[in-house]
Amino acid sequence: MNLFNSAVVAILPLLPKSFVSLFSGRYIAGETLEDAVKTIIQLNKQNIMATQDLLGENITRKEEATQDKEMWFTILDAIEKNKLDSNISIKLTQLGLKLDKEFCFENVREIVEYADRYKNFVRIDMEDSTCTDDTLDILYRVRRDFTNVGIVIQAYLKRSEQDLKELTSQGINVRICKGIYNEAPEIAFKKPEEIRQNYLRLLMIMFDRKCYVGIATHDRYLIEKAIEAINTNAIPNDRYEFQMLLGVGDEYRTQLVQSGHRLRVYVPFGKDWFPYSLRRMKENPKVAGYVIKNLFKKI
Ligand SMILES: Cc1cc2nc3c(=O)[nH]c(=O)nc-3n(C[C@H](O)[C@H](O)[C@H](O)COP(=O)(O)OP(=O)(O)OC[C@H]3O[C@@H](n4cnc5c(N)ncnc54)[C@H](O)[C@@H]3O)c2cc1C
Repeated sequence: MNLFNSAVVAILPLLPKSFVSLFSGRYIAGETLEDAVKTIIQLNKQNIMATQDLLGENITRKEEATQDKEMWFTILDAIEKNKLDSNISIKLTQLGLKLDKEFCFENVREIVEYADRYKNFVRIDMEDSTCTDDTLDILYRVRRDFTNVGIVIQAYLKRSEQDLKELTSQGINVRICKGIYNEAPEIAFKKPEEIRQNYLRLLMIMFDRKCYVGIATHDRYLIEKAIEAINTNAIPNDRYEFQMLLGVGDEYRTQLVQSGHRLRVYVPFGKDWFPYSLRRMKENPKVAGYVIKNLFKKI
């Protein structure tokens, strides 16, 4: 682990929340749904689509999951009311996956059904590898009744190619990302170059099988390789979209959109932003490094 990043991770929890918010602010729309709506209106004006993320994962009681499920209904209502070009990205641990899988399945099913009424789409984010099998299982079960739901595949996991083959055989919409959790070398590629090459292998499977793909990355090499593959294979622009996190990859945004590529920005919001940010940084100290470097850039 890079020494600078580990030092940042160690210090962050000791800093006042208001101080941390100074530099994590650009990655989070705010604490309220109104904040998220305002951010998305601005993105939509620039021809950029959004996907909303309601912060908070570590729930310990079913009541919390039920509250979050109801909040998702409110979010879907707000997307409709404000005519936002936005879908939603949900995390299953926030909906009770680690408490009771059946309860979680019912929650997901209700959210997907609610979104379906608005013809909206639900992306199921992928969490750490202890969740992969259950997340895929819930997706396949919900897909028996609804098609407006897709998933995420992580290029660092060795199992992903096999998982993707199954997903594409059912025509499922998949976001491909590198993966953000710290996984063991037995199950995950650890070298950046191996992860990149697996990412491209997975992307080509999506293109070859004509499945809609979310290309989620800020890695210039991957973006350029993806554009090369799109041009070489004449992939129509209604079969893929680029995806980036709020506050990251701004240097690519205009160029991608002006070149006719679809782009979606992941917009996290919620009052749980502080523990969420700290957890993300502990899981991947590289992120902490980016954040603190951004602070210095601002100054
Ligand atoms: C839309 C979207 C959804 C995602 N969903 C999931 C998910 O469901 N499950 C999951 O495990 N992971 C998810 N991720 C995270 C992903 O797995 C990676 O950890 C993250 O995108 C960084 O990988 P990268 O491809 O950008 O490449 P990297 O090599 O990590 O980054 C490339 C460059 O981008 C910049 N950068 C990248 N991340 C940040 C950051 N956080 N802050 C500042 N600069 C940054 C840096 O300049 C870096 O050099 C998602 C990412 C995106 C964009």
